[in-house]
Amino acid sequence: MKITFLGTGTSQGIPIIGSNHPVCLSENPKDKRLRVSVLVEWEDYTFVVDCGPDFRQQMLRAKVTKIDGVIFTHEHADHTMGLDDIRPFFFKQGDIDLFAHQRVFKSLEKRFDYIFTTGEKYPGVPSVTKHIVKNEPFLAGNLNVIPIDGLHYKLQVFGYRFDNFAYLTDMKTIAETEIEKLQNLDVLVVNALRITEHISHFNLDQALELIKNLKPKRAYLTHISHHLGFHDDVQQNLPENVFLAYDNLQITI
Ligand SMILES: [Zn+2]
Repeated sequence: MKITFLGTGTSQGIPIIGSNHPVCLSENPKDKRLRVSVLVEWEDYTFVVDCGPDFRQQMLRAKVTKIDGVIFTHEHADHTMGLDDIRPFFFKQGDIDLFAHQRVFKSLEKRFDYIFTTGEKYPGVPSVTKHIVKNEPFLAGNLNVIPIDGLHYKLQVFGYRFDNFAYLTDMKTIAETEIEKLQNLDVLVVNALRITEHISHFNLDQALELIKNLKPKRAYLTHISHHLGFHDDVQQNLPENVFLAYDNLQITI
């Protein structure tokens, strides 16, 4: 399985428009973070988790030529606003498979009514096939994907386990029953927004605590704010099996 970090930034991305913060002004490519998303590839399958406003740029940068589906964690704009840019894939492949909680589809249907309409469509509008995700395993390609249920402040979000790889983003609370699903991982990706406490995201200490409890072989931190600091500085102080993810990073499991 190959994982490509398409974006590792928080909702505004880094740099933030108009910001003079030193991290936003950094010239280190590892400090430039598009909105959060990962590409998960195995055998002939290619799935993307979330489809934010940088989706087009991310597909071009990672040279993605086909997708077998988009799997959504939740409906926030930084995870969904690139949906219109599935068009090139739709033109080549036909209807695109989308996987999401029923509530997330309701939200997408409002914002992208022209995609989901059952009436006559304007020419060029993409079509999708809805797969409603409940908190039970579902088939993506030939793999059973296990949803991990969590809370982003009070909003339900799904993380996903693909074999021995798990991807959690925008989490602040995970119930014990869900933690059980995260044992014996080769790689855990988890959100770590910044140093100080935040209402809807793990901060660095909370993410490290989760990693300590779950003991994956390796862990990567994502959904990073400029307030976390410079990539190279933060990385220096992490435990030896924990890494700060950065855009374009690829790992093989
Ligand atoms: Zn987010």
